[in-house]
Amino acid sequence: MLFEGVLKKMPTELKEKVQYYLVFENDFLHLNQILDQKISLSFLKFQCLNCGKDKKIFRQGFCYDCFYEIPQAGDWIMKPELSTAHLDKEDRDLEYEKRVQLQPHIVYLANSSNVKVGVTRKTQVPTRWIDQGAHEALGILEVPNRYLAGIAEVALKDHVADKTNWRTMLKNEIEDVNLEETRNKLVEFLPEEVEPYILKNNKETEINFPVLSYPTKLKSLNLQKKLDYSGVLKGVKGQYLIFEDNTVFNIRSNEGLYVRLEIN
Ligand SMILES: [Zn+2]
Repeated sequence: MLFEGVLKKMPTELKEKVQYYLVFENDFLHLNQILDQKISLSFLKFQCLNCGKDKKIFRQGFCYDCFYEIPQAGDWIMKPELSTAHLDKEDRDLEYEKRVQLQPHIVYLANSSNVKVGVTRKTQVPTRWIDQGAHEALGILEVPNRYLAGIAEVALKDHVADKTNWRTMLKNEIEDVNLEETRNKLVEFLPEEVEPYILKNNKETEINFPVLSYPTKLKSLNLQKKLDYSGVLKGVKGQYLIFEDNTVFNIRSNEGLYVRLEIN
């Protein structure tokens, strides 16, 4: 079977094990069905997720020019506390920013390698947690806009991590933490403005990933340099493909690469 197209973040479904799909323009691949099979990947060209041109990808699947122009790549995406749509203040495109920022957001605790705090739109739960490879997660606040989620996250960052160690996550060297207890310890550090929005009775979500065997060492595949790679797919966790020879490939950070994928 042969597929060709631009890499984009894999859509997922939370089932007993997470279901992963690699979606191309006219076709899609249900990755859970091809575990233990050999696949070959080849890098053919770039295709910016915004302008579609064959220009080197800079960040988030966008070329340099698009990254610094389009509203989908504003600074408030990575730093929610910089959101200003609630003040009617434009960053790059106020209409877009209102649509995205002025909707319910969740501040959550997720454990993928350690407990971290994060922010996501409510519609992105549990997708965001799956993308991070979290085996457990808990929403702790539901606020009406992105700015409030951002200032809550900033306040909690002094007391809990805001980064994941992807190596630990992929080796599955994880422990179970009682996130409800962690939440109860953290609420005192929240800013007053968000206190009405605390989710006191939320329960943890458990997430199981389709991985037959976890890698012991890790080799990160740089497809732009290597151009071609073949290996036996052993699993998917977060947005990473995991291969038998300890190679891992992050689909998310390779968005915008136009590839050929063959299942042998
Ligand atoms: Zn572009």
